[in-house]
Amino acid sequence: MLPLGSDQPADNSEMARLQAQVAELQRRLAEAHERLEVSEATVHAIRSGEVDAVVVQQADDSRVFTLASPEKFYLQLAQELTNVGTWDIELATGRVHVSDGLRELMALPRSGAATLEDLWGAIIPEDRQRIQKVLQESARTSEDRYYEEFRVYSADGSVRWMAGKGAVVRGPGGDRARLVGINLDITERKAAEQALAESERAFRELADSMPQIVWTARPDGAVDYFNRRWYEFTGEELGVPSREHRLKVVHPDDRQRAEAAWDNAVRSGTPMQVEYRFREARTGQYRWHLGRAVPVRTERGDILRWFGTATDIHDQKILQNTLRDADHRKDQFLAMLAHELRNPLSPLMIAADLIATESSLAPHIREMAEVMNRQTIQLKRLIDDLLDVSRISTGRLELKRDAVDLQEAIDAALDVSQPLITAAGHELNVEMPREKIVIQGDKVRLTQVVGNLLINAAKYTPAGGRIGLSVRQQGDRVQITVADNGIGIPQAMLSHVFELFTQVDSSTTRSQSGLGIGLTLVKTLAEMHGGQVLAESDGPGLGSRFTVILPAVSTTGGPATTARLPEQRPAPVRRRILIIDDNQSASYLLGKLLTKLEQDVHIEQSAIQALRSLHEFQPDIVISDIAMPEFSGHQLAREIRTLPLAKQPLLVALTGYGQEDDRQASLAAGFDLHITKPIDIATLKSLLQTPV
Ligand code: ADP
Repeated sequence: MLPLGSDQPADNSEMARLQAQVAELQRRLAEAHERLEVSEATVHAIRSGEVDAVVVQQADDSRVFTLASPEKFYLQLAQELTNVGTWDIELATGRVHVSDGLRELMALPRSGAATLEDLWGAIIPEDRQRIQKVLQESARTSEDRYYEEFRVYSADGSVRWMAGKGAVVRGPGGDRARLVGINLDITERKAAEQALAESERAFRELADSMPQIVWTARPDGAVDYFNRRWYEFTGEELGVPSREHRLKVVHPDDRQRAEAAWDNAVRSGTPMQVEYRFREARTGQYRWHLGRAVPVRTERGDILRWFGTATDIHDQKILQNTLRDADHRKDQFLAMLAHELRNPLSPLMIAADLIATESSLAPHIREMAEVMNRQTIQLKRLIDDLLDVSRISTGRLELKRDAVDLQEAIDAALDVSQPLITAAGHELNVEMPREKIVIQGDKVRLTQVVGNLLINAAKYTPAGGRIGLSVRQQGDRVQITVADNGIGIPQAMLSHVFELFTQVDSSTTRSQSGLGIGLTLVKTLAEMHGGQVLAESDGPGLGSRFTVILPAVSTTGGPATTARLPEQRPAPVRRRILIIDDNQSASYLLGKLLTKLEQDVHIEQSAIQALRSLHEFQPDIVISDIAMPEFSGHQLAREIRTLPLAKQPLLVALTGYGQEDDRQASLAAGFDLHITKPIDIATLKSLLQTPV
């Protein structure tokens, strides 16, 4: 250590020692300079990829530092790649070193030292100054690193895009010694970017011209674009609003639904569809929109973007609601109308039945009663059909499926149509296979299909005609054909007869009662059973043939049940029957008919009265109206079901209300059966067969 600040004079030996020390220091400094130069050369060599390893010799051992292999790989790659070039500018001297790649890229002289002027000249005039400035600033004051994109002339004279990345290399004293950098040809990328920008612009132009709200979102669900319509409609400021902000224009009642639908779509990658209301800035009114979003995917299936629209469906929605309300009111009206029509029909039909079976009356009076009876049956059918049409049009027609023995359905259809066929003096020929045919379906509806065809055959065939009903099994299908030799159907009308309210416009047809509903029901019901129906006719006056084809479940269930004829039924047992109806004539006539059928009858006009007489009369069967003042049939059924009776009676609801909901309500209240008015003698008889 130098004895600086000592007052003591130095002696000669001390001076000599000091001089030796200075000489040693000078030698060490020269050595350091030399080492620095070697290091610099080494670094340069490393940077230009000329060396693979550096050996550092020390007094006691030597260590070899190889360049990390990936780095070497990249250096080689940089040399070999045609679209990459490296350069190195010594700031003090302005000397420039360039790689072969750069010479190639920027059309620089193939050999010899490149100059700064060469570099500037390669850059197109529009970009030159900017790059010069960046480089100059890097050399002096600015950041140590930069990234710039600019254009150069290539060897073939075309202009190519470069991405230049540069860095300042500092000397040992920390001064800016060199600028080194790498240039990459990005012409292709630029072209792709430009094409993308073009299509983006075209998309925006298209989106802006659309009357719908259009938006896009990133794969993670972040919305990044709205078209002009959004800003016009919501009155929002330009710019993409945040999620909270967007939700503000959605009706408060719809917010949760809208959010859930979108979150679910983003989570599952599936399209979204949701209806919600947006507030219109101009009117302050919330308007219904149909919101949709679909994911746009890459070829690999990754979601690239979401594309969404919101379409104003407010007017349609309002119209739809109005229509739905009107439709609902119409259904209610139809149900009420049916009820009101059935109520007077019931006593009429029973009265006609009574007169027809009264042997003491003159035959012509009984015949007239039969006419009355047939007409009321027809009226009842019309009412039922009307209700069915309303069920079809609202999609509420349902099948109560079961394994149905086709024979039973056909017998019931024959029962229904027989009066009309007999009255017109037609000859009926029925052909049934011996095997039992089972159909998976609704017995009542299958009866209706065959019944309607038979009734039509009877209606559209002049008196004394021939009607044929044949059933054939063909593999797993059954074919039911109803043919007549009646008025026939013109060729042009054959495909239209199944349409709702269609009637062939001829005087014969018009003279027949009907609404043009029967065949629509036949077709709908056949199709609901997985089948179809065909109409054939050789023309006017040449008869018609209707064929229903249905899938059959099995034919091996044993022989067909014997055709059930009313006469063959066992005689009804005598039962105690309690009738409750506030309509006096209805209950009176029903009582009369049941008495005639040898039943013990007791009538009450109100449910409360009925409850009182229950213990004393001990009925086997209770037949009750539903809609009654004070105490309804439903209440009555519920009461009866809770009473500690020796034996619970069979509870039958007899009502003008025949919708499925009404039936369900009756069963829920405790009724065993729900029968719609008017009840006919055949139904009454089969009711009396029901075990109690
Ligand atoms: P509706 O009988 O109540 O008029 P349908 O739907 O049952 O209604 O029949 C539609 C039309 O098809 C009838 O009006 C009639 O013109 C024609 N039609 C149906 N069945 C026959 C038949 N067996 N022979 C001739 N025409 C028929």
